[in-house]
Amino acid sequence: MPFCEDCAKYWAPSAMNDDGTCPTCARVLGSQSTPNASRTVAPTSINAKGLRELAGKDAKAPWHFKLLVVALIAYLGWRLVSLIGLV
Ligand SMILES: [Zn+2]
Repeated sequence: MPFCEDCAKYWAPSAMNDDGTCPTCARVLGSQSTPNASRTVAPTSINAKGLRELAGKDAKAPWHFKLLVVALIAYLGWRLVSLIGLV
């Protein structure tokens, strides 16, 4: 977790700025906290970009998810019909 020495505060990667700097004092974080800082900075940049931007503008649900939703609706519809039939 990145630590800002000027603010004496730990920052969650999602709370930092998009370029990995401190939101309060704009100091670059993560470079001196750990020896493998490049590894800890990389997920931060991915989080800052956002999943939708990473997936692209034409990101949509996969076909098997839609098939699952249709099957669920059909199953619940059938359960509703059988429930009405019992009454
Ligand atoms: Zn700071």
